[in-house]
Amino acid sequence: MQQLSGARSSMRPLFGQRGAARAVHASAGASSDYRQSPLFRACATLTAFALLIMLALPLARRTLLGVGLATTLVSVPMGPASAEGSNPASASASSGVVIDVEHRRGEVRYSEAEWRQRLTPEQYQVLRREATERRWTSPFNYEKRPGVFNCAGCGAPLFNMSSKYESGTGWPSFFQPLPDAVTEVPDYSIVFMPRTEVRCRRCQGHLGHVFDDGPQPTGLRYCMNGAAMTFEASGEAAAAAEQAAA
Ligand SMILES: [Zn+2]
Repeated sequence: MQQLSGARSSMRPLFGQRGAARAVHASAGASSDYRQSPLFRACATLTAFALLIMLALPLARRTLLGVGLATTLVSVPMGPASAEGSNPASASASSGVVIDVEHRRGEVRYSEAEWRQRLTPEQYQVLRREATERRWTSPFNYEKRPGVFNCAGCGAPLFNMSSKYESGTGWPSFFQPLPDAVTEVPDYSIVFMPRTEVRCRRCQGHLGHVFDDGPQPTGLRYCMNGAAMTFEASGEAAAAAEQAAA
């Protein structure tokens, strides 16, 4: 008890005069006195606030998606349109189809049953269920030929090889998508680690995430699942075009 009293007296300046007076009273037996201290109240308020944020973030995402603000809020400014590669988006942008970000439905849309039929199980899990492939498992980590990476869901061109770089993460990484090829959506699925999800704009399939620790000229790192893409080498594309023309 002597030691306890000593501890209390050393704490008095923290709690002020009223706290000190109560502390004397508390030494007689009452032990719930700390609840009245400003310090305790501050801690309780902070804890409640943190809990509120944890609950509110997923709700906020849904609300933002609902009113169509999410994409506007986080869209990352892109550099001038790349001269390389085609732009599949501009042709269909005027088609008038409203992209439903919340339900992951783009201009190209199928029922979940149809998606399951069209995609391999791994492609389905990544593109439609937001799964992440295990790192270093995609052969695209080692792809270096000139060409274009297309969406495995709808075939839309997404990234040119000229924007690919080795990030060392184990996932195919790019510093820039093709113009108007992707949609970027806030992702709060990991509490306290807000991220930006990258989707194929045309079918809203999940591709990966974008981070701001990439190389110049954009400073962005598009961290992609190889399973969400197919690769079309330039040579093959040119040969196919020649065959078609002959
Ligand atoms: Zn797609």
